Amino acid sequence: SVPLSYFGGIGAASRVGILVKGGNYLDALARLDTVVWDKTGTLTEGRFQVVTVETGASRERDEVLRLAAHAEAHTSHPIAASILEAYGRPVDLGAVTDYEEIAGHGVRARVDGVFVLAGNERLLAREGVALPDRSPAAGGTHAGTVVHVAVDGAWAGRILIADQPKPASADAVRQLRALGVRRQVMLTGDAHHVAEAIAQRLALDGVRADLLPEDKVTAVEEIDRERRAAGRAGALAFVGDGINDAPVLTRADVGVAMGGLGSDAAIEAADVVIMDDNPARLAVGVSLARRTKRIVA
Ligand code: ADP
Ligand code: MG
Repeated sequence: SVPLSYFGGIGAASRVGILVKGGNYLDALARLDTVVWDKTGTLTEGRFQVVTVETGASRERDEVLRLAAHAEAHTSHPIAASILEAYGRPVDLGAVTDYEEIAGHGVRARVDGVFVLAGNERLLAREGVALPDRSPAAGGTHAGTVVHVAVDGAWAGRILIADQPKPASADAVRQLRALGVRRQVMLTGDAHHVAEAIAQRLALDGVRADLLPEDKVTAVEEIDRERRAAGRAGALAFVGDGINDAPVLTRADVGVAMGGLGSDAAIEAADVVIMDDNPARLAVGVSLARRTKRIVA
């Protein structure tokens, strides 16, 4: 049977925008020692802004942006939203055929009959498209994400975009550390230089980049093993925005989904749902869980 004050704890959590799906998760929150964070949309705003569009000799900037916007028109990925915003004109969906989204890579589609790719270096490698010699692998001095655009199998340009940490993210990390969380690691499918810059700004304990959605499960399993080997017997939470996150949410002791951007599938897979997009709510949840536990014990 569930002690009555668990209901009190769950009720109190729901009043501050944290949905806890059972007393056992409240218990795990009280014992949290490791937090694994997803980057995009969780620690960062997930609202990318196009900084510049650089093109090769063969295509104009507007043409590259038009093709990329059309190729990205069918996905809800935050990168796509930034490209559509920078394009700034209505997209002709009738011009888009053979659309496919490749998780952790990007998109491919036919736009007005030409074959368009928009995504990272991994996507180009997979599709056999060579990068131009002048294109530095990490996007030069640009600290953000690079979306390469290829047209009919040839590199046509790249769109440099930037995403910012949420104002509350550094606080969230600090507060959880003060509450006794020993290790906080960020996982991302984004490039290493982007991940390192954000991890440093937020004072995280570690980062793993260039991960495919399925690699995130393996990463959580490794972090979990390292944790047990170090003798930490508490609980591990994974916090994600829900885009491609359902398998990782299930693997963690406590899977936490951020409600704002989260998909229905993620909200269903999660044990705890943060109703807004504020990562610092997790610290509120941990304090609340601790108080509830004292009352039960
Ligand atoms: P994260 O792990 O940061 O949440 P994702 O797994 O969603 O990121 O994506 C990982 C990487 O795959 C992105 O940084 C980007 O390089 C590429 N990517 C994914 N979806 C798209 C898209 N729709 N358009 C362009 N690139 C994409
Ligand atoms: Mg994500």
